Amino acid sequence: MKKTVVLYPGLGVGHLVPMVELAKVFLKHGVAVIVALIDPGAKSTDFSAAVARAKTSNPSVDFHVLPPPPPPPAPVDSNSQQVAASTHHVTKIFKLLTAMNAPLRDFLRSLPSVDALILDMFCADAQDVAAELELPVYYFYASGAADLAIFLNLPSRVAGNTSKMKELGDSVITFPGVPPFKASDLPNEVIGDGEALPAIVGMFDRMSRADGILVNSFDSLETRAVQALRDDGLCVPGRATPPVYCVGPLVSGGGGGEKEHECLRWLDAQPDRSVVFLSFGSMGTFSGKQLLEIAVGLEKSGERFLWVVRTPRSPDFSYGGPLPEPDLDALMPEGFLERTKDRGLVVKSWAPQVEVLRHRATGAFVTHCGWNSTLEGITAGLPLLCWPLYAEQRVNKVHIVEEMKLGVEMRGYNQEVVKAEEVEEKVRWVMASEGGEALRERVAAAKEGAAEALKEGGSSHLAFVQFLKDLDTATVQD
Ligand code: UDP
Repeated sequence: MKKTVVLYPGLGVGHLVPMVELAKVFLKHGVAVIVALIDPGAKSTDFSAAVARAKTSNPSVDFHVLPPPPPPPAPVDSNSQQVAASTHHVTKIFKLLTAMNAPLRDFLRSLPSVDALILDMFCADAQDVAAELELPVYYFYASGAADLAIFLNLPSRVAGNTSKMKELGDSVITFPGVPPFKASDLPNEVIGDGEALPAIVGMFDRMSRADGILVNSFDSLETRAVQALRDDGLCVPGRATPPVYCVGPLVSGGGGGEKEHECLRWLDAQPDRSVVFLSFGSMGTFSGKQLLEIAVGLEKSGERFLWVVRTPRSPDFSYGGPLPEPDLDALMPEGFLERTKDRGLVVKSWAPQVEVLRHRATGAFVTHCGWNSTLEGITAGLPLLCWPLYAEQRVNKVHIVEEMKLGVEMRGYNQEVVKAEEVEEKVRWVMASEGGEALRERVAAAKEGAAEALKEGGSSHLAFVQFLKDLDTATVQD
C-alpha cells in the first residue's frame, strides 16, 4: 500500500520553504504527503505570504491548515496567583507549538493511515503526539550537518547548568566534526540570558531520541561533520546518534509571486555576473546607521548592486513581527538613489531571492548566512560575503568560511556596525580580484557537487532511498 507521511514545518519561513521541497521528494518516490500548517494569524504576514507562495508554486503538494489551538490558561505561580507570561520570543513560539499538539493529534487521527510524522526542530513536543498514536517520528533539520553536530551535543554540554554557556564568553570551543570557534558565535538564545536555553536543550534532547534525522545538506559539502554524525557516541555523548540522512540541497525553485518582480527586469538589463546581491533572510533588519554605512560602501565600490532594504526594527516590533515598508528617501544618504540609479537598485522589504541568485547578471551574494540562503547561493554558484545576524547564522559563517571555504566574512559582523570601508573593500574584492575569482571557482565545484548528490545514485538520492527502507522497519520511540 502507498505510504503516507505528514510533514510539520512549524512557523519559520526558512523552515517551511525547504520542507515543501522535501514534500516534493516524497511525491517523486511515490509516497503520499501532507504538509500540516499552523495558521499564524495576523501576527506573521511574512509566514502567511510564504505559505501563499508555496501553495501557488507547488500545486502538487497537499497542504492542510490546522485549526487554532484552544486559548492557553493564564499562567499561575505555585500559590495559584496569576503571573506574567514569558515574553521571550523563543519561549512564546515553543508554547504555541506545544498548544498545537491537540489540533495536530485530531488531524492525524482523522486520516485513514499515516506511516510517519516528520517534524521541524521547533515542533519537538509533537513527539508526544507521535508516541500516543504509535507513529515513527523523524525530524527534518532545516540547517546543515555541522550545525546539527554542534547542537546535538548541547544537552550534554549544558548538563543542567544554563549559566555555563554565557560564562564561556569569547573562549574557543570545540565540537566533533567542525572547526574550533568562539563561543560568542553560538546563537544568542544559547549564550544569552539563559531564558530560552532549557527549551532549546530539551528540543535537541528530544531530537536525539527520534527514529532519524533528515538533513538539508549533502555529504560532499560537509564531509567531516557528516562523518562525526555517523560515529556513534560522538555527537550524542554516551548514546548512538539517530540515523542521519543528508538528502539536500533542497532549494526552492522560486516563483509563486503574483507577478514578475521589477528587479528581475532590471537584472535583464545588466551585464553577466556584474551585480552584487545583498539580502538578509526573512527577518534581517539593520539600524539606520548601518544602512547608511552600507550605502556609502556600495557607492564607493563602483560595482553594480541589488539590495533588499527593510525598515529598521525598533523595540516596538517583536522578533519577526510585521514591518512597514521602508521609506527609502529617509533611510538612504541624500542623493544616493539618484547618483547610483544607473548601476544600483534598492528593493523594498522582499525580493524573489532564488530567481535573483540564478540570474546570469548576478555575480556575488552578501548573505546573513541563513541556511536556505547559503544553499541557494552555493547552488547558484555565487561566492558568499558572510554577514551573520541572528539564530545559528554566526556558526554557519564559521562553517562557510573556515570549513567549506566558500565565502569570506564581513569582519565587522560582531561590532556595532560593519563600516562603509569594509563593505567597499569586500565588494570590490569579490567582484574584481584574483582572490574573488578563486572563491568563485570553489563555489562552482560545490555547485557541481550538489548536482551530483541529487542525481539518481548520488549521495542524497541514495540517502533518501535508505530512509524509505528504514521507515519500513521503524519502531515507535518514546
Ligand atoms: N527570501 C526571499 N526574499 C527575500 C528574503 C528572503 O525570497 O527578500 C527567502 C530566501 O530565498 C530563503 C528564505 O527566504 O529561501 C530565508 O531563509 P534563510 O534560511 O536563508 O533565512 P531565515 O529566514 O531563516 O533567516
